[in-house]
Amino acid sequence: MASYDLIVIGAGPAGAAAAITAARGGASVAVFDKAKYGRDKVCGDGLTPRAVTALQELDIDLATTHTIDGLRMIAGKKVRELAWPQTSRFASHGAVWPRRELDKHLIDVAANAGAELVWEAEAVPVIENDVVTGVKVGDKTIAAKMVVIATGAQGKVARMLGAVRDEDEPFGLAIRSYAESPRHDDKHLEACLTLKDKNGTAVPGYGWMFPAGDGTVNIGVGALSTMKNFKKLNLNTLLDSYRALVQESWDIGPNLERPRAWRLPMSVKKRHGMGWVAIGDAAGLVNPMNGEGIDYGLESGMLAAQLFLDDPQTAHSRYDEQVGQRFDQFLRTGRRFSFLIGHPWILRSGLRVAVGTQSIANITLGVMGNLIDSETPGAAGKVLTVADKLLAVADPLLRKSRA
Ligand SMILES: Cc1cc2nc3c(=O)[nH]c(=O)nc-3n(C[C@H](O)[C@H](O)[C@H](O)COP(=O)(O)OP(=O)(O)OC[C@H]3O[C@@H](n4cnc5c(N)ncnc54)[C@H](O)[C@@H]3O)c2cc1C
Repeated sequence: MASYDLIVIGAGPAGAAAAITAARGGASVAVFDKAKYGRDKVCGDGLTPRAVTALQELDIDLATTHTIDGLRMIAGKKVRELAWPQTSRFASHGAVWPRRELDKHLIDVAANAGAELVWEAEAVPVIENDVVTGVKVGDKTIAAKMVVIATGAQGKVARMLGAVRDEDEPFGLAIRSYAESPRHDDKHLEACLTLKDKNGTAVPGYGWMFPAGDGTVNIGVGALSTMKNFKKLNLNTLLDSYRALVQESWDIGPNLERPRAWRLPMSVKKRHGMGWVAIGDAAGLVNPMNGEGIDYGLESGMLAAQLFLDDPQTAHSRYDEQVGQRFDQFLRTGRRFSFLIGHPWILRSGLRVAVGTQSIANITLGVMGNLIDSETPGAAGKVLTVADKLLAVADPLLRKSRA
């Protein structure tokens, strides 16, 4: 029976980050993905300075990506062009990197570091007395000291391990396509925060234009499950109405591919057990305030692998503890916030405040992007601390009164 130190199921950014870190650290690593090499992933392709920093930590060459200087936040007629917050912790710029290329680049780096890649191979964990001892691929069993679950938003593997979404917590859905635009090399991500459904009700979420610098823009919309009638929300219709809104200012051509939608998981009931850890989307690590998941995948992947290199025996429990210390409080606040903005009248008045002045909009960007430097937290850090406390007190009411 073949055996490895570490087996990674899933070759997205989370799995690749774990594989790169572990292979560079001298571990024997195998990565299985059920898709073909070069697969695409439905995404907005946007990288915040936080994600750029994570890629820099992995020593990834960003020279071919389209650099982004900040965010253009639009709420009704109000337009705020904001530079990324300058911190000592995060890079000074963001980027747009289409996922077909980003994911391929990352996994190639993992292969060059020594990880073995197996494509078109669905893997499931082998569980013996509650301990994951390896994976099963077809009729082959392959042993590993630890299995990293990087399988994305829910699925068979997550269900087998109980790493499922908490039904009481929110999640998101988003849809995207690509189109040509003369503004493809714009230096700002654009987010329209005042989306409305077909009945004119405010939708908690946003529409985006993310310029890729290659002649195209990524156009999409996303919404949170905390809104009333979420199940009836038609994302295709929402995207069409957003497209009509930006048609003139971006002079966009027809969709270059059929719009595709996917889930944004924002919670998980369990993210570790004996012999395994879950990272990235499989661990529910998506920022509820902006839908960002690439960074959280990269960070959790690097962390899991580093802890494994430090001590394979205790890596799973230390991972749970440390990933929790890094993200749980922020993500919990984000989920509470998403219940709040599920009420259209709170969303409308909140937005008026959030983009009311340039300095408040800057704080909004820092908080929503989790771009807070804990050493020098600044105004955004203080706002987040206060919001965290207030939302914690309001939590039972928020859940009871959910839209
Ligand atoms: C429309 C949309 C827009 C988004 N926009 C952004 C954005 O602009 N910026 C951002 O940061 N985030 C964005 N996100 C979120 C982001 O796409 C995810 O958070 C990110 O892809 C998570 O990476 P991952 O590696 O955890 O999982 P994935 O990228 O989903 O990779 C999982 C991999 O696991 C494989 N797999 C699954 N099960 C098995 C199995 N049993 N055996 C083998 N292989 C398996 C799959 O084939 C897949 O390749 C967006 C999401 C959506 C839906």
